Amino acid sequence: MNDWRRYTEIPRIAYFSMEIGLTAEIPTYRGGLGVLAGDTIKSAADLKLPLVAVTLISRKGYFRQTFNDDGWQQESSVNWNPEELLELLPSKILVTIENRDVKVQAWMYQVKSPTGGELPVLFLDTDIPGNIPEDRKITDHLYGGDMGYRLKQEIVLGIGGARLLQLLGFQIRKYHLNEGHASLLTLELLNHHRRPVEDSWDEHTSWDTSRVQEMCVFTTHTPVTAGHDRFPYDLVERIMGDVIPMDRLKELGGKDELNMTMLALNLSHFINGVAKKHGEISQALFPGFKVNAITNGIHPFTWTSPYMAPLYDKYLPGWANEPELLVRVDNIPDQEIDEAHTKAKVSLFQYIKETTGTQLDPEILTIGFARRVTAYKRANMIFTDPQRLLKIGGGKLQLVFAGKAHPRDDYGKGMIQEIRQQANSFGDNLKIVYLSNYNMDLAIRLIPGVDIWLNNPLRPLEASGTSGMKAALNGVPNFSVLDGWWIEGHIEGVTGWSIGPPPTETTTAVNNSDEDVKDLYKKLEETIIPLYYDDRTGWIKLTKNVIGKNAYYFNTHVMMRRYVTEAYLQ
Ligand SMILES: *Cc1c(COP(=O)(O)O)cnc(C)c1O
Repeated sequence: MNDWRRYTEIPRIAYFSMEIGLTAEIPTYRGGLGVLAGDTIKSAADLKLPLVAVTLISRKGYFRQTFNDDGWQQESSVNWNPEELLELLPSKILVTIENRDVKVQAWMYQVKSPTGGELPVLFLDTDIPGNIPEDRKITDHLYGGDMGYRLKQEIVLGIGGARLLQLLGFQIRKYHLNEGHASLLTLELLNHHRRPVEDSWDEHTSWDTSRVQEMCVFTTHTPVTAGHDRFPYDLVERIMGDVIPMDRLKELGGKDELNMTMLALNLSHFINGVAKKHGEISQALFPGFKVNAITNGIHPFTWTSPYMAPLYDKYLPGWANEPELLVRVDNIPDQEIDEAHTKAKVSLFQYIKETTGTQLDPEILTIGFARRVTAYKRANMIFTDPQRLLKIGGGKLQLVFAGKAHPRDDYGKGMIQEIRQQANSFGDNLKIVYLSNYNMDLAIRLIPGVDIWLNNPLRPLEASGTSGMKAALNGVPNFSVLDGWWIEGHIEGVTGWSIGPPPTETTTAVNNSDEDVKDLYKKLEETIIPLYYDDRTGWIKLTKNVIGKNAYYFNTHVMMRRYVTEAYLQ
């Protein structure tokens, strides 16, 4: 039996995230944030960094997506059995919720790298006999339930997680808060660093905030304040009670409501956004704090298709743990790289045939678009002028979409429905498929199998974006609005193409959809389609540039080395 105790021998970084996506079998993630967390953990294991990750068990996962005859999304819960993949740890701790003691236990999953690196991921769970039925459900639904349910989850994650690490004997050198969901752990740490002042507790001098700050690193992922978790204080008082005195909490977490981002900002010594642009935007949102930028990445081995990986092994041995080697991609013969991509494409089309009945043509330029469906990502933008699209793309284009809308997001569901209806109306002249149930398994099939990866979010809302990096790792060029990581990865015509104006403004006022749409159609028609059909050598050159100039750099190995030197060792 693998004992957790062997992980307690050296001090570790505790990485807290509400969602973690390690594999599709453990459905405790919704999208980019969770997959980033999983990729972070895998790179940490490859690099043998001492880390322990903490998240929620989410027994009902995120949902499974199907569609009714009208193309309207239907949700069902995915139950999974932690028993099959994880090991239950013997210790339990208590947190107080609505004045009740709620027991919390943890399941351990071990991430093992071929390099020999290993690290534990703890999944917190309240489904324990002795907890009342309501409390047993706290760790069931990822991003489900109302505000009170969410606050209870954050109590379990932040306070429960910190307590459990301590009880299990983990020595923690830094706490890394991946987004504000785990901010309550700072309160638990504050309680550990109380100093008695003579023989009374003086509320204003007994809290050693600087000690807690030294321990905490905070990564913010949301470029608009509306996206930050906030809770009214009457709810906080009713559900959480006084973990620290209320007036002190208000000083740290906001006067009018408990703002989890504010709490994390006030109690972290290192704060960062997830791309250079997002760092600047966050700096403007949070004057008075120093906001750094560490651009997100993806885990190289996880996101390389089984068709491309053997080529990298053959020509760039060692690439998976030293992705910088991809800079020498020109050592791979053109023909071999072209064949590897075609295999990925054929394999995707086979899957599409099996799941939807539609047969796509591997000779035709294929655009991919898949991510969470939410208003700002504008999944339906390419259909703004269907006649124009048909004129440009008839006989020359195929489109593959996937993505889930949040169960309560009717606008997002409407976008999906529109795409599915367009798919029917375009018919065989321009084939469009919408694949259901986008998850990590589908992502690794879909992204490497298309020819270009489309991304057209509303600037500046795509804090980083990572699916475009997965495309790059497989030689698939990005065609994207200049936002997030793409501002750093884009060289026009060399690593892909931009859509719309340059990212000189930080406000959403620059979002002239018309301009974006026009540019999208124009580049497709005048640049991308001709290159694909008339200049094979030019296209393969592009493929190689994408790998050598984007993939070698935008990965979680590079990212983790930066977290170590810029945040963890500071
Ligand atoms: C990578 C990934 C995402 C993130 O996509 P973005 O385009 O960066 O938003 C979302 N969902 C899944 C399943 C992924 O693998």
